[in-house]
Amino acid sequence: MNEDGEDPFEVRDSHIHGLGAFATRPLRKGQRIGLYAGRRWTPGEIATLDWDNALTYFFGLSDGSMIDGREGGNGTRHLNHSCAPNCVAYEVVDEDGVLQIQIEAGRRIRVGDELFIDYSLDIGDADPAEFECRCGAPECRGTMAAPPPPPPAKKPRRRG
Ligand SMILES: [Zn+2]
Repeated sequence: MNEDGEDPFEVRDSHIHGLGAFATRPLRKGQRIGLYAGRRWTPGEIATLDWDNALTYFFGLSDGSMIDGREGGNGTRHLNHSCAPNCVAYEVVDEDGVLQIQIEAGRRIRVGDELFIDYSLDIGDADPAEFECRCGAPECRGTMAAPPPPPPAKKPRRRG
């Protein structure tokens, strides 16, 4: 929920994929959309997981744990992926010291716009083509997987 105590979006059919989240009021850049809620998985539990179809509902945290939006999740789990998203997700530590994923508007958003984040899935050794993206953005990577890391910086050539 945001500062007004009510989600600034509604969940309905998306032409991109399944259900989507759509702004119900204009949002300014930096405006809070919500916290990504769900069941917490520890790194040890994650090792036992069957990933089939589940990956897009998981949010990885920097401490190695994950949030599973399928259980106890809120409306933010319906934000679809775009390679040119209008929202950003980032880690915050709440007043209890717990890592959370906060989602906020990355730019101005109009009423009725679908809300997107860049999933940048960590797919390990899997084929990025298995996580096909159909976001339609001109800069679409073709996959919801995280972009490859930039090539290592070239070492300066030694003189002489
Ligand atoms: Zn895309």
